[in-house]
Amino acid sequence: MAKSYDVVVIGAGPGGMTAALYASRANYSVAMIDRGIYGGQMNNTAEIENYPGFKSILGPDLAKAMYNSSTNFGAEYVYGSVEAIEDLGDTKLVKTDSEEITAKVVIIATGSEYKKLGIPGEEEYGGRGVSYCAVCDGAFFKNKDVVVIGGGDSAIEEGIYLSQITNSVTVIHRRDQLRAQKVSQDRAFANDKMNFVWNSNVVEVLGDENKVTGVRVVNNQTNTEKIIDASGVFIYVGLLPMTKSFENLGITDKDGWIVTDDHMATSIPGIYAIGDVRKKDLRQITTAIGDGGLAGQEAFKYIEAHK
Ligand code: FAD
Ligand code: NAP
Repeated sequence: MAKSYDVVVIGAGPGGMTAALYASRANYSVAMIDRGIYGGQMNNTAEIENYPGFKSILGPDLAKAMYNSSTNFGAEYVYGSVEAIEDLGDTKLVKTDSEEITAKVVIIATGSEYKKLGIPGEEEYGGRGVSYCAVCDGAFFKNKDVVVIGGGDSAIEEGIYLSQITNSVTVIHRRDQLRAQKVSQDRAFANDKMNFVWNSNVVEVLGDENKVTGVRVVNNQTNTEKIIDASGVFIYVGLLPMTKSFENLGITDKDGWIVTDDHMATSIPGIYAIGDVRKKDLRQITTAIGDGGLAGQEAFKYIEAHK
């Protein structure tokens, strides 16, 4: 027989853990399902400097502290990958790769994943010089030259992180202005180990069949091509929503982000979405936990109204 909870939260990142805290503190039975370790993207972040209460805190340390809070009132962490949700009216059926779980309310907090560039060599050299996670792989490039592709917060912050380990970091951006927050831009421009290649697209990752040796770059203003030698290629060109498992529900926009109202409710009664997976302007830890608190409270109201 399927296990049954009042509230099932899918994803144990900062959003999901906060929703689990709020719903369990309201005395509901709560399962928080994740296919990886709790913490979500915080596990891929070194220093977090914009989480109130801390001048700076390591991502995994904040993840652990949030996990302790989220389970303090009885919410259970359940390991599993959610493959589908079926809306059965007052009950929702959540199917993981190993079991079926029913819930009165489902809160989707599955976040996002890194977008791929889709250029030759990217897939071939994945794990052999191409990376999407500086915190995970940076140490392999001690005293080596690396490139970072992208101009957003991830590219610039991870570039700064890599500069502490590597010999040099070349940021390659398709425009002549960064998208990253001003404070990060100022730090990057003042960093002796970082240099910038503007108005340029990386068209190929080059290698010697075993490992990355560089990238082929085309200047999109002059159409000139050059090769930049590098041992590592870190790609930060944006995010894609993790919503493949929920496509059948028809709750996403054309790009796959889940659309909600101000109460985090989707168009299906009893199904909420929070954090990065939601269509929103600012994807941060603080906004994910704000969404999570609201959804936890809304779950309470929904269940009370349907008693
Ligand atoms: P996530 O943290 O992405 O968590 C989603 C969870 O859902 C994951 O654990 C995943 O395993 C799980 N999951 C996904 N699909 C399934 C499924 N089908 N079944 C089961 N589980 C599933 N924000 C800041 O405020 N400050 C920073 O300094 C900062 N630095 C960042 C650095 C990088 C490199 C990146 C990429 C992001 C950074 N952010 C930062 C953004 C911040 O990490 C995110 O906004 C935040 O983690 C979003 O939280 P979330 O709970 O919505 O999703
Ligand atoms: P992002 O903000 O979407 O930036 C993606 C970058 O990649 C942009 O500079 C974009 O160029 C470039 N790009 C996109 N597609 C490209 C392509 N095909 N070829 C070349 N370049 C391409 O993504 P992100 O930096 O990963 O950030 C994602 C979210 O997480 C954001 O909301 C961000 O604020 C948040 N985040 C926050 C922090 C923090 O608060 N400290 C840290 C990291 C991430 P254009 O600029 O030309 O569009």
